[in-house]
Amino acid sequence: MIALLAALVLLQQGAELPAALTVHAGERSSSIPVVSTRLGAMVRSDELLSPLGAVLLRDALGRFRLVVGGTELQLTTGLAFAKVRGATEPLAAAPTVLDGILYLPLSLLTDVLPRVATGYLYDARLGELRRFTPVVADRRPNEDRASPAGAGSASAGSAGASAKARPTPPRAAPPRAAATRRTVVVVDAGHGGRDRGMRGPLGASRKVFEADITLSVAKRLRDELTRRGVEVVMTRSTDTLIALADRGRIANRNHGDLFLSIHVNAANPRWRNPAGARGFETYFLSEAKTDDERRVAALENEAMKYEVEAEAGDGDALSFILNDMKQNEFLRESSDLAETVQEALKVVHPGTSRGVKQAGFVVLVGAFMPSVLVEIGFGTNPAEAAYISGARGQRELADAIADATMAYLARYTTRRTSGGTP
Ligand SMILES: [Zn+2]
Repeated sequence: MIALLAALVLLQQGAELPAALTVHAGERSSSIPVVSTRLGAMVRSDELLSPLGAVLLRDALGRFRLVVGGTELQLTTGLAFAKVRGATEPLAAAPTVLDGILYLPLSLLTDVLPRVATGYLYDARLGELRRFTPVVADRRPNEDRASPAGAGSASAGSAGASAKARPTPPRAAPPRAAATRRTVVVVDAGHGGRDRGMRGPLGASRKVFEADITLSVAKRLRDELTRRGVEVVMTRSTDTLIALADRGRIANRNHGDLFLSIHVNAANPRWRNPAGARGFETYFLSEAKTDDERRVAALENEAMKYEVEAEAGDGDALSFILNDMKQNEFLRESSDLAETVQEALKVVHPGTSRGVKQAGFVVLVGAFMPSVLVEIGFGTNPAEAAYISGARGQRELADAIADATMAYLARYTTRRTSGGTP
């Protein structure tokens, strides 16, 4: 779906997509071919480095650092965003390695680089990236105040329409959009207290319990998000039972911007090889379409049997919510959030991606915000139980979900401030 989105974006921009990107640096001019790929317009990193005056560093896990003009852009293959000074910058497509060469989405150079690094300007009309030696005296003292917060990213794509031929002096990176309040992410550790959730692995004498794993991963996720400047509300931070409907209420009361519920999957004992089932999947709230989606929803909704007053959660409540207009917007957003989380988990998770799915989870019904439920792995599988209950696995999972959350929030905030859909 992300690839599809990228393709749509490129269709819209098709008219102004250059066959080559020209990089001007002083007297020198270099032409870098733009490669049309399944993921969209890309350029070879090796052809860029010298014209840009950039350095590319590679580490073991498909992670790269592109150092340009004193700015470091952290890139991961398969993830459609760059990290710059701790902030997340969305890309039109994920960086990809083909035959040992890192290909970068064109948008990294035309959109992101001019915003985050000093001394670069992209002229969309001419398809030219200009590299300046910044001249401090050219800066007008009041130029930062002319543009409202957030306008930098919202208008970047249409820069070509209003750009005159006259070269513009390079802008310093605009200040990060100062939100009127901090973003609130609600992190929900599934189960707790009497409700231990799933127990596994199958055939092992030493068992792990879902309620412990979800709490531990949720706490790590809270720490990772807090470190990235997000305010986090936990539905529970101790081993205690919270009713499914109350988890949504906690999220609403705290004015959450999005809701992440962490769970552990369990194989159906009637499957041919239940202990062999593994992998991760991300759900958003909708009507279940397959037996497997219904199975997972039933598994998670079963937590209601531990609740003394289980009033909500019937099918009528679900269809009411699904028909609500506002909730429909959240459904689209939730589907995008789920896709982003699933993509990020693919990079670290040793198990297979079971994809983005949809089902009627009671825990997601009451939260009036984009919401997803992540099944981080099968606790019934011995290898996966070890991964999701071990420190390294939990750190990787929390880190990946935090990265995805930041990438999603960057897009969501842009959509909300520009008042349109992508
Ligand atoms: Zn669960």
